[in-house]
Amino acid sequence: MTASSITPASGASRTLSVAALESALADAPFYQRWRNHDPGPLSHIDGRYAALPILTKRDIRVHMPKGFIPRGRDFKTGIESGAIELVTTSGTSDDRATIVWHQPWWDASEHAAARLHAGLDRVINGSQREAVLATPLCAGNICHIGDLSMAERTMGRLLFLNQKPDPTHWTSGDMERMLDELNRFAPELLEADPAYLAILARHAANKGITVQAPRFISLTFEFPSRLHYRQIRRLFPLTPILSSYGSTETGHVFTECERGHFHLNADYCRVDLQPLCARHGGPAIGRMLATILQNPWVSLLRFDVGDLGRLAAAPCPCGRAGLTLDSIEGRTRDLTFTTDGDAVTLGAVDRRLGDIEGLLAYRIEQHDRENYRFLFVAEPGAEATVSNESSARLAALYGTSARLTTQRESAIVAEQSGKFRLARTLFTWDPETLFEQETDRP
Ligand SMILES: [Zn+2]
Repeated sequence: MTASSITPASGASRTLSVAALESALADAPFYQRWRNHDPGPLSHIDGRYAALPILTKRDIRVHMPKGFIPRGRDFKTGIESGAIELVTTSGTSDDRATIVWHQPWWDASEHAAARLHAGLDRVINGSQREAVLATPLCAGNICHIGDLSMAERTMGRLLFLNQKPDPTHWTSGDMERMLDELNRFAPELLEADPAYLAILARHAANKGITVQAPRFISLTFEFPSRLHYRQIRRLFPLTPILSSYGSTETGHVFTECERGHFHLNADYCRVDLQPLCARHGGPAIGRMLATILQNPWVSLLRFDVGDLGRLAAAPCPCGRAGLTLDSIEGRTRDLTFTTDGDAVTLGAVDRRLGDIEGLLAYRIEQHDRENYRFLFVAEPGAEATVSNESSARLAALYGTSARLTTQRESAIVAEQSGKFRLARTLFTWDPETLFEQETDRP
């Protein structure tokens, strides 16, 4: 299988893919330098995409806005008329970028993505009452830090619950305020960072606090661990929980359907998966290169969003066609390696550890080829069994020559970005060497 055979090419999505590629190459100044890579309109569209370079965050940082706005549209006029605004993406200073934001496109992308899970489109209708539990550093173009009242954190149909950049610093008072606000606001949709909601749900369950359930919980912003699901289920045992995958740059890319698979939001996004080399998990696992479709203001082609996806092994029983993933496997930068040097995704780590009774949070750190440190938080009384069980499972995952130390923590704190890192290496490696290159293919 090659990357060029992966994207499904139904008639409509092929037409949108052609339009996005041709208008970017013809009209957006940044892609002038890419034109000579395009084999041209007589070639299959998937081959044309596969022949193009990859767009990086750095490219966006350097060339946004003007490089990506098509000729015929004027940035200054767009800002002055309110058609567009500039939005800074979340993340650490290294990977923050400013992008052109066109609200009608974002809304259309969100509505289309909601149709990929039964019943969700009846909740996400543009007027849904929605509570957001995530880093207060930035959610889209809105920032909330500090001691604002509930009224000041309510913007029409939206309530922003959190006021602290690291949820491990929440006090009981903070959490009980948020639980109380959830009851008073009674959202139809709770959009949450899974790590944040897990901490809040655990506190509520331990204290015997109940909360009126929303109609849907949408997990987004970072990798949802099995541990998060388990803790969230203690507070919301019956509420449908789905994972929604996207970014400020790309809009809504994948929605998890009611059968647990991820379907592409194909009218607004194209995704090419560049497979990992076979020894690292390819061709089923690859990095997502996203192209946004139908955005009149911005052309992004083959943008490396930094995450890995695993292709569905079989058609989804829900019956939806098109590009389908079995899982989002976590960030490329969160790969670790077996003692033989084979890549291990965060998804693979989480599948190993996710059902260990009493495990509440973890981070695996690889120091060099054979030395690993496992930090964990456990339920009181479960520390010894969690430590032993985790060690055995991680040895099976990384190799029998792995030297593993375990370390119990009272909490594992968030990174500066407000996100948690569940796996990391403490040495440098070149991600480009892990992926199958276009020239490797027959
Ligand atoms: Zn499905």
